[in-house]
Amino acid sequence: MDFQLTDEQEAIRQAVHQLAQEVIRPRAAQRDRSGEFPWDSVQLMAEQGYFGMHLPAEYGGAGFDYISYAITLEELARTDATTAVILDVQNSLHAECIWKNGSPEQRERFLPPLCRGEVLGAYCLTEPQAGSDAANLLTVAKRVAGGYELTGRKVFVTNGSMAHRYVVYAVTDKDKGKRGLSAFVVDKDMPGVSFGPLLEKLGIRASATCDVVLDQVMVPDDRRLGAEGDGYKIALLTLQGGRVGIAAQAVGILQGAIDTATSYALSREQFGQKIGEHQAIQWMLADMETDVQAARLLTYRAAWLHGRGERAAAAISMAKLFASEAAMRGTVKGVQILGGYGFTNEYPAERLMRDAKITEIYEGTSEVQRMLIARHVLDLHAAQESPLVG
Ligand SMILES: Cc1cc2nc3c(=O)[nH]c(=O)nc-3n(C[C@H](O)[C@H](O)[C@H](O)COP(=O)(O)OP(=O)(O)OC[C@H]3O[C@@H](n4cnc5c(N)ncnc54)[C@H](O)[C@@H]3O)c2cc1C
Repeated sequence: MDFQLTDEQEAIRQAVHQLAQEVIRPRAAQRDRSGEFPWDSVQLMAEQGYFGMHLPAEYGGAGFDYISYAITLEELARTDATTAVILDVQNSLHAECIWKNGSPEQRERFLPPLCRGEVLGAYCLTEPQAGSDAANLLTVAKRVAGGYELTGRKVFVTNGSMAHRYVVYAVTDKDKGKRGLSAFVVDKDMPGVSFGPLLEKLGIRASATCDVVLDQVMVPDDRRLGAEGDGYKIALLTLQGGRVGIAAQAVGILQGAIDTATSYALSREQFGQKIGEHQAIQWMLADMETDVQAARLLTYRAAWLHGRGERAAAAISMAKLFASEAAMRGTVKGVQILGGYGFTNEYPAERLMRDAKITEIYEGTSEVQRMLIARHVLDLHAAQESPLVG
C-alpha cells in the first residue's frame, strides 16, 4: 500500500488550485448571490482540458486516472462547489455514461465535442414521483418507425436548460419493471424539448437546475445507449462515478471551510489572545481536520477502485456518505469559528455550509447510501462461514 500521490496527481492539484484561486474565487461569491450560470468557468475548464479529462485520448480526453479527476473536483469545490458539480455532471454522469455504454459509433459521434467543451451534457433520471425510488419512472419511450417517441417530465436536472445534450431514462416496457427501462441521448434542439424555470436553491446557487420536459420527442434508434431494457443498469452504474465526484466535492467544501476557519482563528483576537489559542476553537479545528483526512482517504480509495473498473458500489457509497456528512458538520463548525462574521456573506463560511447540504442529497441521499452499505454488509456476512452464523 502506498499513500503517496504520484507526481502527476500532485501537479494536477497544484494546477487546479492555482486556477481556482486566481480565476474562479474572485467571482464565486457574486455568482452565489446572483445565481448567474458561470459560462466563463465552463469555457476555462474546456480550454484547460478538464472536460473529459479521464476519457481516452482517442475520444478527445486527456487519459488521466480517476484519482486525478477526484483531486480536480476537490480543488474546484474548495473554492466553488458550483463549478465542481458542473464538471462532475459533464464528465461522470454524461460523458462517462456514453463512453461506457455507447457503441463505437456513438462514442465517436458524441464524445469529442463533449471533451472540447462545445457541448454541455446533463443526466435526466429523477421525476416528480421517482427520486430515491429511481426505477419508478413514468417517462415513456414509445416504439415508432425508426426510433422512439419520448414523453414525460424530468425534474432537478443539473445543467438543465444550459446543457445541449441529455442522457434520458425512460420506460420502454412497463411490464418489465426495472428491466423495462432504456437510456437515450436527446438533444436540446429536438422538437418537443422544453424547460421549466431555473430553481432558486439553498446552495450551489449558480448551477442551473430545472425541469426538462419531453413532449413526443422523436429519438432515432441510433441514440439508444445499450440494449432495450439496459436503462436502469446504466443509470446505477453511471451514478457510481458521479458519487465519487460528489464525495470529492464534499472533501473540497470541507477543506475550504478549514482554510477559512484557520486563517480567521490565527488573526481574530478575543480576551487578549488569538481565538485559535482557545481550546474550544482548537477542538473544532481538530475535528474538522480529522474528518477531512478520513473523507479524503475514503474518496481516493473509491476513485482508485472505480478507475480500475472494480465492483466498488459499497466503497463508493461509504465515501459519499462519510464525506458529505463530514462536510456538513465541519462547515457548521466553520461558521461557528467565525462567530457573527461567519453568519454574513463577508466570508465564504456560510456559502460553504449551504453548499455542503446538497452533497447529502443528490446522487443518492445519505439514507440511500446507508441502505446500499447495509445490504453489502449483510450479503458479505451471509456469504461468510462465520462461527457466529448457525
Ligand atoms: C440541486 C439538485 C440537483 C440535482 N441534479 C440531478 C440531476 O442532474 N439529474 C437527476 O436525475 N436528478 C438530480 N437531482 C435529484 C436528486 O438526485 C434527488 O433529489 C435525490 O435522489 C432524492 O430524491 P427526492 O428529492 O425525490 O427525495 P425522496 O426520494 O422523496 O426522499 C425524501 C426523503 O425520504 C428519504 N427516503 C426515501 N426513500 C427511503 C428509504 N427507502 N429508506 C429511508 N429513507 C428514504 C430520503 O433519504 C429523503 O430523506 C438533483 C437534486 C437537486 C436538489
